[in-house]
Amino acid sequence: MRKIIIAIDGYSACGKSSTAKRVAAALNYGYVDTGAMYRSVTLYFIEHYIDLTNPKSVSKALDNIEITFHHNESTGQNETFLNGLNVEAKIRDMEISQKVSEVAAIREVRLAMVKQQQKMGRSKGVVMDGRDIGSVVFPEAELKIFMNADFDVRAERRQKELFDKDQLVDLDVVKENLRKRDRIDTTREESPLIRPENSVEVDTTHMFLEEQVEHIVQLATTKMVDS
Ligand code: C5P
Repeated sequence: MRKIIIAIDGYSACGKSSTAKRVAAALNYGYVDTGAMYRSVTLYFIEHYIDLTNPKSVSKALDNIEITFHHNESTGQNETFLNGLNVEAKIRDMEISQKVSEVAAIREVRLAMVKQQQKMGRSKGVVMDGRDIGSVVFPEAELKIFMNADFDVRAERRQKELFDKDQLVDLDVVKENLRKRDRIDTTREESPLIRPENSVEVDTTHMFLEEQVEHIVQLATTKMVDS
């Protein structure tokens, strides 16, 4: 069977990352969480007081950023490293969630991240999740999934995810953050979140994680035989 690229796009908190991770494990594929890359850039910009309105400062800062993923044997999870430091926990904080969409809308940031993502998926055999994977990063991906879920369900899932990481965040605050990110992600000039051409829509509102994974693995297997 041939190796393919699986692009999973969709709104925040509709189960993309959890599904993508498991699909990758089931197929023995690599997994790239592109949201983690934009979150890492955001962390760097905050820590280094980068002026987001100054393209020169942004470009200079981007030259100093190296993002890598490493597999943690004890947890079985992929973890994100920014310039050699493990930032996996830090980049999931609400502070980063509040700022990330603003940073991800900057042209220079997108160009730099897309370039790295294309490099990471060059040899195929990869599951990549984000907002523009099927539309911009890999428009030729053999399998494109567009994930969605009911807004309230997404908010409750995100709140639980934060709670599991010891962050108690009011549901209204989570909802406001999702609303804001949805608005910026879908209306920005640079590669907005859209449903990519030839994508399969998966609505996860009433689905269990295992069902989502199984469904996508089946679609992928068909493509691997076909392509
Ligand atoms: O997927 P996650 O919620 O971690 O992504 C964080 C933010 O990064 C999104 O709200 C979006 O603004 C940005 N993002 C993006 N393009 C991607 C992945 C994430 O603009 N491919």
